[in-house]
Amino acid sequence: MFEKILIANRGEIALRIHRACKEMGIRTIAVHSTADANAMHVRLADESVCIGPAPAKLSYLNIPAILTAASITGADAIHPGIGFLSENADFAEMVEEHGFTFIGPSPNDIRLMGDKISAKKTVQKLGIPIVPGSDGMLEDIEHAKETAAKIGYPVLIKASAGGGGKGMKVADNEVMLEEAFALAKSEALAAFGNDEIYMEKYLKKPRHIEVQLIGDTLGNVIHFGERDCSLQRKHQKVLEETPSPGINEQEREKVGKIAVKLAKSLKYRGVGTVEFLYENGEFYFIEMNTRLQIEHTISEMVTDIDLVREQIRVAEGLQLSFTQKDITINGHSIECRINAENPKTFIPNPGEITSYHPPGGLGVRIDSALYEGYRIPPYYDSMIAKLIVHGSTRNECLLRLKRCLEEFVITGVDTTLPLHIDLIEEPDFVSGNYDIHWLENYLARK
Ligand code: ADP
Repeated sequence: MFEKILIANRGEIALRIHRACKEMGIRTIAVHSTADANAMHVRLADESVCIGPAPAKLSYLNIPAILTAASITGADAIHPGIGFLSENADFAEMVEEHGFTFIGPSPNDIRLMGDKISAKKTVQKLGIPIVPGSDGMLEDIEHAKETAAKIGYPVLIKASAGGGGKGMKVADNEVMLEEAFALAKSEALAAFGNDEIYMEKYLKKPRHIEVQLIGDTLGNVIHFGERDCSLQRKHQKVLEETPSPGINEQEREKVGKIAVKLAKSLKYRGVGTVEFLYENGEFYFIEMNTRLQIEHTISEMVTDIDLVREQIRVAEGLQLSFTQKDITINGHSIECRINAENPKTFIPNPGEITSYHPPGGLGVRIDSALYEGYRIPPYYDSMIAKLIVHGSTRNECLLRLKRCLEEFVITGVDTTLPLHIDLIEEPDFVSGNYDIHWLENYLARK
């Protein structure tokens, strides 16, 4: 059994992991930058180590500092959380080489799925549909033009090392393609240090459907149903729900089986998510995230399973304590991501929280590291809270969400709470009639 886990992250997700550890009787070690000395994840952890100055490159991405912190505190394992080093295969390898357990999949799987071109090739070999596009990377602009002519405009250029919606460019015609090609390449190089790009047909009305799963070292893989994350802005998720209001029971079963097939073929260990675009009754694989995801919470609400706890158990080499038959989906759950941003311009607004009153009651969960008097530093992601609600039906869930959004008080900084309040009144959202472009169109109309 692990006695001590170092959590190589910050904010709400560091706290989320801390909570699972404490309930398992495991001591926690927080790491933090100088800007986060007063952060909640540091205050609650059993021990803490400052690993560098504010910029993430010098602290939360500083591998030698993190390994040193694990060493001096006697950690057994390192949990990378979400973002930062969570999908860095070299880091996972170094963690293991230094004698700690990496709480996540094997470095090989992180590498294979982290490169989207190799990921698509792998799933294609298994007979899983992928979005039509280039066969591998785009060599040059001529290759891009030929591919676009073959699959038809509009097309989407994507970065092979991509993540967080960065480096994606749409082109409606050949003239736009020239610009999109150059822009995507330079953005990919700047963001990921790798300028490999590929092309996909730009789907017109898809839903983003993803499947949460977990695998153990004995080759067992189980899924927890799907999440609908179609409400996005700039290819980033804003609100997620499960089950999806846009697919039926047979489709649900089908997509779950596809995701498990992929994970089984990899002998995948740990939690992961297989992402698809769903259009006209078909699920097209887009990527696999080899880590915990922000929206894992809604799957926990409908299955009553602590995914971080299970993630830690399988990292210890333990067998999954349940089978697919044991997983039942009860009711409905929705998560709203609340950012410290202007709700109209989406410009980040760090600063001091002058008052804080989160909602509560039956079926309500808040994952947040906020407290009154806390000063949100300007250096990191602007998401400050996740409001997660559960109801026995989608309708009950929506009524509860509305009640919670009205109760929620965060003052001192702008937040995206007003956006969510408006959103849940929209007839298309209420009826579940939306796709990945809906939110952007709605914001443009507002
Ligand atoms: P990232 O890893 O940067 O998040 P993804 O491949 O997961 O990139 O895509 C993020 C989002 O971008 C998807 O959820 C979807 O909304 C949009 N997207 C991706 N591929 C396509 C496509 N071929 N057509 C239309 N939209 C797409």
